[in-house]
Amino acid sequence: MKPVVYLDNNATTPVDPRVLEAMMPYLTNNFANANSTHQFGVDAYEAVKTARKQVADLIGAETNEIVFTSGSTEAINLAIKGIAENYSDRGKHIVTVTTEHYAVLDTCRYLETKGFEVTYLPVQPDGLINLDALKAALRPDTILVSVMYVNNETGVIQPIKEIARLTHDAGALFMTDATQAVGKMPVNVNLDGIDLLCLSGHKFYAPKGIGALFVRQRRPNRVKLPALIHGGGHERGLRSGTLNVPGIVAFGKACEIAIKEMKFNAGKIQKLRDCLEAELLKIDNTFVNGNCNKRLYNVSNICFKGIDSEALIMGLSDPESDLPLMAVSNGSACTSTSIEPSHVLTSMGLTQAESFNSIRFSLGKDNTKDELDITIKSIKEIILKLVAMM
Ligand SMILES: *Cc1c(COP(=O)(O)O)cnc(C)c1O
Repeated sequence: MKPVVYLDNNATTPVDPRVLEAMMPYLTNNFANANSTHQFGVDAYEAVKTARKQVADLIGAETNEIVFTSGSTEAINLAIKGIAENYSDRGKHIVTVTTEHYAVLDTCRYLETKGFEVTYLPVQPDGLINLDALKAALRPDTILVSVMYVNNETGVIQPIKEIARLTHDAGALFMTDATQAVGKMPVNVNLDGIDLLCLSGHKFYAPKGIGALFVRQRRPNRVKLPALIHGGGHERGLRSGTLNVPGIVAFGKACEIAIKEMKFNAGKIQKLRDCLEAELLKIDNTFVNGNCNKRLYNVSNICFKGIDSEALIMGLSDPESDLPLMAVSNGSACTSTSIEPSHVLTSMGLTQAESFNSIRFSLGKDNTKDELDITIKSIKEIILKLVAMM
């Protein structure tokens, strides 16, 4: 296989070797069910307990506030549908944002078919929501506000603390999809005033298929959710089914590593990202999508005006060329029959064409200066070729 320059870390990340090492015994020697009462089971139970503490510590939560799920999509479904079911006697209005992940948007659309009313707040051209617009959208019957922490396509960071405060002033609960924030930047559910939060292991060096939902159990808002998955009453009755012990152990280890190494990695990655971006912006007719001051350090979403992102991506992964294969994303949702422009970018006011001209570079802790130098050089060459063909 050709070497790969992997710049798609917001889609998923590789498993950290230390994470793999931590989970391995639970796939092999100790494969026990964490609910079994024999010694093997007790060992597995203890490993889950340790991991739950590691996950809770990363976000400033208590262990009884963590529900393990298969990832963020499941956590979001559990949270939003659960709130809708349990709090509908208070009201049937939910507020979210047009640039959310489809896990949130599609869950809200589903609830609209069940009699709930959803306000989809627009964003400003820089990707941030307008707090006055949020204030105006809040009503006495609003039960939940769900706003993502960091956008997966642009890296734009919403003012979560202010949003949570306005939400609570209106008597509603605040949920955040923090999948792209947790593990990469400090997130504290108490300092931010978060009632529900989802996170996913594979976005920060744990395997796919393991994540969690934080459900506040302390004052001021003790959140009560119904079970979505019925069975043996695992995870405090919220999510039954035999625990994914190896995944949970891996997830815990990834959280522990993130606490220790987040700051160092942030500095290193930001330097690489800034250098990549500065070079790409030297190309004619390019601009950055999203607010550059309120943006996570690992993402650069760039519009190469007039250049088809699909052609650029093809050029970057051309098996005939002697360059390494480069994995980037155009952040658009492809279905088998049609390619839609990114709903995030069009919500920010980009035209469909500009959206199809945009590419997301999302860096990770393993990227090197050499890899980015090659990327910059190849992009410049491919764009020259594409322009010459026009
Ligand atoms: C990846 C992602 C999800 C989905 O997470 P899974 O764990 O893969 O289900 C949800 N929201 C955001 C912002 C994401 O980046």
